Amino acid sequence: MEFDYKYIGFAENRKAAVIRAEEYGNEVIYEKLKAILNMLDFRAEEYYGKKVVLKPNLLLKFAPERAATVHPSVVYAAGKIFADAGASVLLAESPGGPYTPGILKSIYKVSGMEEAARAGGFELNYDTSFEEVRTDGGERSNHFDIIKPILDADLIVDLCKLKSHSMATMTAAVKNLFGVIPGTRKVEFHSRFPKHEDFAASVVDLTSFICKNKKVLSICDAIIGMEGNGPSGGEPKKIGCLLASENPFALDLLCAYIIGAQNTVPMLENAKKRGYAPADISGLMLRGDDPRELVIKDFRFPDTHKLHKLDFLPKFLQPHPKVNKKKCIGCGECARSCPQKVIKIENGKAMISLKNCIRCYCCQELCKLGAITIHRSLVYRIVG
Ligand code: SF4
Ligand code: SF4
Repeated sequence: MEFDYKYIGFAENRKAAVIRAEEYGNEVIYEKLKAILNMLDFRAEEYYGKKVVLKPNLLLKFAPERAATVHPSVVYAAGKIFADAGASVLLAESPGGPYTPGILKSIYKVSGMEEAARAGGFELNYDTSFEEVRTDGGERSNHFDIIKPILDADLIVDLCKLKSHSMATMTAAVKNLFGVIPGTRKVEFHSRFPKHEDFAASVVDLTSFICKNKKVLSICDAIIGMEGNGPSGGEPKKIGCLLASENPFALDLLCAYIIGAQNTVPMLENAKKRGYAPADISGLMLRGDDPRELVIKDFRFPDTHKLHKLDFLPKFLQPHPKVNKKKCIGCGECARSCPQKVIKIENGKAMISLKNCIRCYCCQELCKLGAITIHRSLVYRIVG
């Protein structure tokens, strides 16, 4: 596939907007989203007759109340704005685990996407094909497998959820775009980049590749986010705002400021070095409510929060995954998603061999029952 790098200067767009939002509901979010797009001078009408792809963070088969997936009201509102503007709107996502039409269907249903699509007048993707793209200019990676609808889009609407993340500290606009890699190919990506720093740089490679070739609009559902051991095993946390930017790195910078994660998100630190985001929010062109009034002082980060600073510790002192045998039902999902293949199911329970574990925490992320926790050594707790 040929690329034209039409938007190579995407990072020069430093506009980011935030608006207070206390509750969900299709109409209230629709009005707020229209207001926030106006603040960014973003015109949905420019996409008349074009292909708009909504890329929500759906992660796993979770109901909206779990706060692990983007709320359907936000997806409805974004879809309706572009459908009303005469665009052809398709929702496409490759969640965690296998990428099949049957799994997509059940996730769409449980996460509220079926209903959002019906009400908002857009379609749901069931085409699970993908293509390998080759590029240049990446710091760690110059080739990616990407799902077809993303490659065909004129505009990608990156619909993310603001959550804590065991490996990445925080997930919002940038990490959500990692979900354009099909199904278990995401696991291979972890194997290619077992070091946290390399993984962060390669996700920045992927995001910047997408932004240079496609128009991207990132919208973040931070009304109820997730704190603690996210992105799936944490607890819902009221953050109370909706954010947007045409630069996903700028959006993440603002999100990190609001939850108190400045300078601790490895992907953002890499992006700053490469000029995709300014050093802090004073380098953004901010619109909407004053972010200082939206800061969450008591946001709880994952048990691995200091990982980026303590990567020098020997492996055995770094936080490691641990199976709670009482909760584990032996479904094997963690074993299938382990890039190192160090998890086995024995006597109906998951067993982890830590020797070759790379501390990616995919197993914790993909266990729907929360049966994998993160164990921190005494040394890590003291120095962290
Ligand atoms: S730890 Fe979770 S994902 Fe792994 S086998 Fe047990 S229940 Fe399934
Ligand atoms: S056991 Fe868990 S943390 Fe370790 S490599 Fe496998 S998925 Fe990653």
